[in-house]
Amino acid sequence: MKAVQYREVGQPPEVVTVPDPEPGPGQVLLKVAAAGVCHSDIAVMSWPADTFPFQLPMTLGHEGAGTVAALGDGVTGIAEGDLVAVYGPQGCGRCALCMQGKENYCLRAAELDINPPGLGAPGAMAEYLLVDDARFLLPLDGLDPVKTVPLTDAGLTPYHAVKRSLPKLVPGSTAVVIGAGGLGHVAIQLLRALTPARVIALDVAEQKLELAKQVGAHETLVSDDKAADRVKELTGGRGAQAVFDFVGVQPTVTLAGAVTGVEADVAIVGVADGALPVGFGRLPYDVSVFSPYWGSRGELHEVLELARAGAVDVHVETYSLDEAPAAYERLHEGKVNGRAVIVP
Ligand code: NAD
Ligand code: ZN
Ligand code: ZN
Repeated sequence: MKAVQYREVGQPPEVVTVPDPEPGPGQVLLKVAAAGVCHSDIAVMSWPADTFPFQLPMTLGHEGAGTVAALGDGVTGIAEGDLVAVYGPQGCGRCALCMQGKENYCLRAAELDINPPGLGAPGAMAEYLLVDDARFLLPLDGLDPVKTVPLTDAGLTPYHAVKRSLPKLVPGSTAVVIGAGGLGHVAIQLLRALTPARVIALDVAEQKLELAKQVGAHETLVSDDKAADRVKELTGGRGAQAVFDFVGVQPTVTLAGAVTGVEADVAIVGVADGALPVGFGRLPYDVSVFSPYWGSRGELHEVLELARAGAVDVHVETYSLDEAPAAYERLHEGKVNGRAVIVP
């Protein structure tokens, strides 16, 4: 089958032919219908060789959806032909956190060498994807795989962050979204669907700010050195009650801290090297700063329910497997508006 692989550190991904996978006991084989292109892959492909954590070559794609093509021995509760989305941050299923569905924070994944598809294990950017357990598959139940596949990460990750801050996002509050790309444009919709907060979106690209407006941001601002003052003005000097940074570089993390009000939450979601010092007097009183990773299985179920209710509409650009390297290039150049999705 065809697969999009990261083969050598520092080299662009390549479309290659690899053996068709076959499901072993307990496994499920999917015919991939859609695979999302995430900026995290660009971060991964920039890591140096001496500390690179995954085995290469590696088939990319940690957002996947498809049709069940074959079942390994002993798999029950799912049938050939079912359309499903894949829960990516897979864990052991048995530790204290996995028991709560928080497989993204599995206590034993490293020890047991369990990796998400596309981030250590073979990913979804191929004609077929092998999934290790049926519990990682959520029925699409009428949702379109291409429009839905980004929800497995670009939806689930902001959902997890937003959900944590819901108690702060009461009427009269403000939420700030920094970076209105794949994750950010879904975050805006989640904030609008789940909270009465006023949403201020920031980005460096005009096209992204237009999309932010279109999907529900009340205000949009260019993310520059005047942005913090503008947010303060827009909030009457109070600052925001929740800030979601989907970039994570030093300028955006500093901005995130600068726009916080008393008791605000700051979620640093972007994978980069920004750091926000916490200590008495550094930030307004009682500000919480955290860096979440992906979301729980239960939260993915909730995100899909929200999509069924019509509350989120992911803007997608589609590409073939052969075009995947070009899609990564466009994402790297900041040219993808919404989410790029590979349709094999
Ligand atoms: P994306 O490229 O689609 O979106 C990033 C957006 O940020 C773009 O619209 C870009 O124009 C904007 N941007 C860049 N520099 C900016 C700045 N200085 N100020 C404001 N906006 C700026 O990327 P994505 O796929 O949505 O991923 C966003 C980030 O989240 C990436 O760093 C990715 O690695 C990370 N991520 C983290 C998790 C997690 O679990 N923590 C999960 C998925 C993705
Ligand atoms: Zn991702
Ligand atoms: Zn576990």
